[in-house]
Amino acid sequence: MSKNLEKAREEARELDRRDALAGYHEQFWIPKKPDGSEQLYFCGNSLGLQPRATKAAVLDELTAWQELGVEGHFKGQRPWLDYNELLRGPMSELIGAKPQEVVIMNTLTVNLHLMMISFYQPRGKRCKILIEHQSFPSDRYAVESQIRMHGLDPEECLVEIAPSGNSRIIDETVIEEYLAEYGEHIALVLWPGVQYASGQFFDLERIAKSAHKAGALCGFDLAHAVGNVPLNLGITGVDFAVWCTYKYMNSGMGAVAGCFVNERHGESAHGEAANLKRLHGWWGTDPESRFLMEPGFIPAQGAEAWVMSNPPILAMAPIRVSLEMFQQAGMTALRNKSIAMTAYLEQLVHSELSDSIEIITPADPKRRGCQLSLRVLGGRGAGRTLFEHLENTGTIPDWREPDVIRVAPVPMYNRFEDCWLFVKQVKSFLAQT
Ligand SMILES: *Cc1c(COP(=O)(O)O)cnc(C)c1O
Repeated sequence: MSKNLEKAREEARELDRRDALAGYHEQFWIPKKPDGSEQLYFCGNSLGLQPRATKAAVLDELTAWQELGVEGHFKGQRPWLDYNELLRGPMSELIGAKPQEVVIMNTLTVNLHLMMISFYQPRGKRCKILIEHQSFPSDRYAVESQIRMHGLDPEECLVEIAPSGNSRIIDETVIEEYLAEYGEHIALVLWPGVQYASGQFFDLERIAKSAHKAGALCGFDLAHAVGNVPLNLGITGVDFAVWCTYKYMNSGMGAVAGCFVNERHGESAHGEAANLKRLHGWWGTDPESRFLMEPGFIPAQGAEAWVMSNPPILAMAPIRVSLEMFQQAGMTALRNKSIAMTAYLEQLVHSELSDSIEIITPADPKRRGCQLSLRVLGGRGAGRTLFEHLENTGTIPDWREPDVIRVAPVPMYNRFEDCWLFVKQVKSFLAQT
């Protein structure tokens, strides 16, 4: 082992010793290797790990059901009727919004559809949706099908901005310039907070403002942003946002998703919201009249008007646990650790692996979250071989076609030394091949 690499391990251990959040590692179940040691888990961007408190929180609700039956809606420690109220406060803090602008419901792609039903209203030549070229497939399918629902053709009405040349990064200026020139054709701009493949964190305020300046509406997909980077949706002025809670929010596979509707769209039954197209269910009605069981839909205030069904409590209990942990740790402390840990990994990749690996994620910490996307210079085959070796030996990054290995050191449970071990292992493997 080189002297530098040895020194870097000492540095990692020192950073872990000084880390005020280090204790959170013990609060998670870390999957094990066959020999019983912990995996090196770098996949919190895809499925966050399970907090140790989650199982008890789910069992609590099962017990409440066992003991209270239907009365669990009103009685017990956390009456199910008000469950959304427990979550929307801490969730809104995490995204920089007001509680009444946030609901937890459905899943991400479903929420994206519900939002587009309200906020994609093609009229005349203003009929197009602008997305990024590398858009997540589910988002693209949703957009295409919404365009078809209006009797329009995605070939014509779906427009994309691609990174230029070999880069995977899209400069916000390019989006602004596009909207300044072609904005009159755009009905909706749909943009990711953090791009899932490159790890680029966009300047969301600039994107929402340039969309609005062009007369378009704007929505964000925050799947890779919530719990990863600081967000301030209120300041961006964005019209809506959707996100899932099983990635950085550690709430379990297929967990219930989040949805933000700017308060100007959700003000009241008699405001702008009254004219919005929206799919309705009984849980979107004003709580005062919900159980009168009368015809006549009176929308609830704010984002709640978009809720259709009564909340899936067993699936929401893990989100409550996760939000408590985020509140306790604090997004500022998490972000500070995240910036330091990702920079540590980046520097080590540069110093030890630069012959064989390039980083496609932006180098500026303001333009990324914790994830680094790596490309093995030997081509797709070499990248795949390395990825499979890592996976087989209990180091878990993930693979995104065509040639990207994503590594996400998550500040809530990863350690600086995990990053060191990752680089050490990649280096040893590449030296043999
Ligand atoms: C993870 C992810 C999804 C997943 O959608 P589901 O409806 O939760 O299955 C969609 N879009 C993006 C950008 C994602 O990162």
